[in-house]
Amino acid sequence: MMISTNETHNPELRSWVASANADGTDFPIQNLPFGVFRRDGSVEAFRVGVAIGDQILDITAAQAKSVFTGDADTAALACCAPTLNAYMALGSHAWSALRLALSRALREGYALQSALSTCLVAQADAEFGVPAQIGDYTDFYTSVHHATNIGKLLRPDNPLLPNYKWIPIGYHGRSSSIGISGQELRRPVSQVMRPGATEPVLAASARMDYELEMGIFIGPGNALGEPVSMQQAEQHVFGMCLFNDWSARDVQGWEYQPLGPFLSKNFASTVSPWVVTMEALAPYRQAWTRIEGDPQPLPYLDSPELREQGAVGIELEVFILTAAMRAQGVAEHRLSHSNFRDAYWSVSQMVAHHTVNGCNLQPGDLLGSGTQSGPEADEAGSMMELSKGGKEAITLPNGEKRTFLEDGDTIIFRGGCQAAGAARIGFGEVRGALLPARSLA
Ligand code: CA
Repeated sequence: MMISTNETHNPELRSWVASANADGTDFPIQNLPFGVFRRDGSVEAFRVGVAIGDQILDITAAQAKSVFTGDADTAALACCAPTLNAYMALGSHAWSALRLALSRALREGYALQSALSTCLVAQADAEFGVPAQIGDYTDFYTSVHHATNIGKLLRPDNPLLPNYKWIPIGYHGRSSSIGISGQELRRPVSQVMRPGATEPVLAASARMDYELEMGIFIGPGNALGEPVSMQQAEQHVFGMCLFNDWSARDVQGWEYQPLGPFLSKNFASTVSPWVVTMEALAPYRQAWTRIEGDPQPLPYLDSPELREQGAVGIELEVFILTAAMRAQGVAEHRLSHSNFRDAYWSVSQMVAHHTVNGCNLQPGDLLGSGTQSGPEADEAGSMMELSKGGKEAITLPNGEKRTFLEDGDTIIFRGGCQAAGAARIGFGEVRGALLPARSLA
């Protein structure tokens, strides 16, 4: 099914929420991403909200004011919950109905503006929760540039394994340790084999890294045993967020063969508060192409829709703020940037491959895109790549050097989309800070 734009994407639309019309806002009226929030420091239940400018529209409060009707009201009722799972399960017809109703209700001139304005909470006064109860989390590896860069460091003579260009590679991760932006994680302790050593030791990771990824939230699931075709795949996708898949490279290097990552990845991953819907992303779709000379995907991973608009243009950035930078009042420093359009495998291919054996996805499941590195050296999506495996230190503006993360470092991802004839929309940010390891004593 092709993705099309409609009146909600019109770049001329303006909102009665003034901050939504400001230049550079991530959350103009054309975006309308979903998250869960409560007033900061309160013991209120988390509830579903939609970002508009620097505000949040409380959907439960708006629904109670009878501003929605018909399918939009049914959809809004599914949002009267502490997570987005019930809403995600409804599917694209309901999502479109609520998006259209929200777009009309937040536009300049809306008749019930004064009633709806009482349902706004400033984002600055809110704390956020993980948007869904994530049943299962699967991490893919869709950047051929990242796979090649990492492969060179782990296997210099054999960087890209032969299956890479045929299969969307992935592994089943751990959902229990997925946290929301602002997460503070302890440097993990695990078994590592130090360079030159003959026996491993239990130690705090000395090679902590981030991974710049997109998170993909599943909407309606598929029945066990029933694969999802490429044509149906995006009907099963609710939207996307920013995702930091923290990684302990020394742990990974020792444990990853033969079954893949385990403790090097499962101690923490961080999502951004806002999930930008696939409908909101419609104007930024691009043709999906295969690099000249590479194998074409098998038929179950191919479709006309993929070729025409399977890629999504999302500009991504990574920033670092060290403890010393914070103390010195130095601004966060951009480490790298890349674009999700360069992913080797599309969102639809991830879904089609994940389910081709009959595996069932469920509403709220999370797919990680894998680290998004681009073709250029400054488009590396991890510090392991930027520092060439720890051999070349990065110098920060205040003179500090990094090969891997140090205790007290904060990592921030931001992302946004722009296209001719469309408004610019953004994902907000995901940030997380590394704390010292627990004592081994
Ligand atoms: Ca990853």
